[in-house]
Amino acid sequence: MKTILITGASRGIGAATALLAAYQGYAVSVNYNRNRSAAEAVVEQITGNGGRAIAIQADVTQEADILRLFIETERQLGSLYALVNNAGILEQQMRLEHLTVERMDRIVKANLIGPMCCAREAVKRMSTKYGGPGGVIVNVSSIAAKSGSPNEYIDYAATKGALDTFTVGLSKEVAAEGIRVNAVRPALIYTDIHADGGEAGRVDRIKDRIPMKRGGYPTEVAEAILWLVSEKSSYTTGSFIDVSGGG
Ligand code: NAP
Repeated sequence: MKTILITGASRGIGAATALLAAYQGYAVSVNYNRNRSAAEAVVEQITGNGGRAIAIQADVTQEADILRLFIETERQLGSLYALVNNAGILEQQMRLEHLTVERMDRIVKANLIGPMCCAREAVKRMSTKYGGPGGVIVNVSSIAAKSGSPNEYIDYAATKGALDTFTVGLSKEVAAEGIRVNAVRPALIYTDIHADGGEAGRVDRIKDRIPMKRGGYPTEVAEAILWLVSEKSSYTTGSFIDVSGGG
């Protein structure tokens, strides 16, 4: 059974990816930050269906937590095959003039430094350079990397743009060491994240501007992530799948 670690898997896209991964036969490490009961519910759903999963609390903005997350995942589920860098945050919609340094710092740490540190820990374990068997990293970026999210959260968008650049660079750095690195760029998926921006109904407000005229569902993103994790995408690295209804 291959082990997959999914950050921020208590809710939304991460939870959907954890459930689909278990259905496809992976042992799943369900990382969460604050929402223990939601993470445990994901694990119970998986184990109740005969799958293998554990929940591990770790804040991806804290390096010590990340180190513990990887050690604990491998101790309980065996060596790591795939990392999905899914955890991410945004905050109240506002223009640049109102963004504090403290907020920018929180966004950059969660959406960029955290995923880079997680990828670093994954590479140390997966790379053939260090005797590892290879592996897969999938970063969950956003269409915001391309749109820039003006008037809403350009700080968030900037971190996703940087995550895209990181995806390209790392994919080339480790391509000859058995590791593939790709990303998905969702947009307007029905999850709790929009409420954090102060507009729980954001997807429905904007959906008519999407070419497909509807919002997306977490499972639709999970399918793309797990294709990139699977052997079916064995010659794909440094690539992006936009899961955005054509927008
Ligand atoms: P969500 O419903 O708000 O869930 C966020 C998840 O991330 C939760 O499991 C949360 O854990 C976890 N998390 C947040 N901060 C964390 C931290 N410091 N350490 C560890 N885990 C942390 O979000 P979502 O919409 O599913 O988003 C998932 C990813 O997709 C994000 O990277 C987001 O930027 C990206 N995305 C989403 C959309 C969309 O429309 N929904 C569009 C584009 C991109 P707790 O529950 O324990 O707090």
